[in-house]
Amino acid sequence: MSATLFRGRLLWFDHEPEGAEDISAYNYVEDGGLAVEFGRIAWSGPWAQLPAKWQKVEPVDHRPHLIVPGFIDCHIHFPQGQVVGSYAGSLLEWLNNYTFIEEQKYAEPAHAGRMAGAFLDMLAAYGTTTALVYGSVHRQSVDALLGEALQRDMRMIAGKVMMDRNAPEPLTDTAQSGYDDTKALIADWHGKGRVEVAISPRFALTSTDAQMEAAGTLVREHPDCLMQTHLSENHAEIAAVAELFPWSKDYTDIYDHFGLLGRKSMFGHCIHQSEREIARMSESDSVAVFCPTSNLFLGSGLFSLNKMRSANPHVRHAIATDIGGGTSWSMLRTLDEGYKVLNLQGERYHPLRSFYQATLGNAAAIGMEDRIGKLAAGYEADFIVLDAKSNPAMALRSETISTLSEELFLMQTLGDDRTVAATIVSGVTAHQLPKR
Ligand SMILES: [Zn+2]
Repeated sequence: MSATLFRGRLLWFDHEPEGAEDISAYNYVEDGGLAVEFGRIAWSGPWAQLPAKWQKVEPVDHRPHLIVPGFIDCHIHFPQGQVVGSYAGSLLEWLNNYTFIEEQKYAEPAHAGRMAGAFLDMLAAYGTTTALVYGSVHRQSVDALLGEALQRDMRMIAGKVMMDRNAPEPLTDTAQSGYDDTKALIADWHGKGRVEVAISPRFALTSTDAQMEAAGTLVREHPDCLMQTHLSENHAEIAAVAELFPWSKDYTDIYDHFGLLGRKSMFGHCIHQSEREIARMSESDSVAVFCPTSNLFLGSGLFSLNKMRSANPHVRHAIATDIGGGTSWSMLRTLDEGYKVLNLQGERYHPLRSFYQATLGNAAAIGMEDRIGKLAAGYEADFIVLDAKSNPAMALRSETISTLSEELFLMQTLGDDRTVAATIVSGVTAHQLPKR
């Protein structure tokens, strides 16, 4: 098989930037080339140093745009694409009045199938090449999504939510069926091509002790699977959960009690945690997932990175859209809102830090930093082409931009799906905007 060549400006990170001037954290190639073979990057570097064996291959020329690794979304709900922008005050109202109605439709394989295609098209259009996804309670929702992802050779991780109380009857499983269905999904999909299954108890409010116990058993039986759930998002939720588990020290203690904390555990939100809870997150290497557009939209509160990091500067975290509580599929919009949430609290993400987080940082959060998140040889060929002049306001502002950091910050602040000129999945162009 012959290689595919891409040409453009290249940017990828090797580690988290320590600060605004940390040039050791990233690789930037002004006129770069990427050779892709069998879905992987075979070579990357300055175009002038393109190895002889590929010099006769006609490149896909993306100059003057910036090529970066595909964005990774660490928390998104498959059955909520048609819930985004529902007029609800806060989390529990939003769940009961809109989301729990919508998710019932995913019992129907034809609906789930149509939505699976639309969901993956949307991710590609917004430059997201990997996502950690919640399905509905129905295992067929995950069958539909992972089947479609496998066909497209996309790196997707998804699980059916386990929920056996406090939801409408058509949306509930039982401790046993939630366990059995998750087990069956793991057997059918986990490790097939580039798809994986995540153990997904929705949150403590919708699971009985027996189901939490079953989730803990799944985590012990499948240590190579990610576990995802929600934690400490909203005050009413926290109070309701405390009533259901009166023995618990706090919300985090419930998951801890059932063996759900750990390196492979991804906790959405983590806004109102106490010092004790954050210390447990840190000790257990659990990941806090910051979902800024969702937290603002539902009025849940402000995630503080400083608060997390005061316990341990290396406490693990990720950033995500949380569609459909979140209001944008775009990781650029998400970084922008994240910046504002942190800035309100006197904290800031430097633009280098933002782009690190949405690529290699999120890859590390899900334990895939050896496969995705870089443009280095051997990595899976998932990358995107970003155009900093993709709308009139950006083109105007670009006239006064002179550094890479300024360009990144411009794209984060004013960019959206129009900024993603092309998305390459497994070496193949999965989405491309007409040339401007
Ligand atoms: Zn969520």
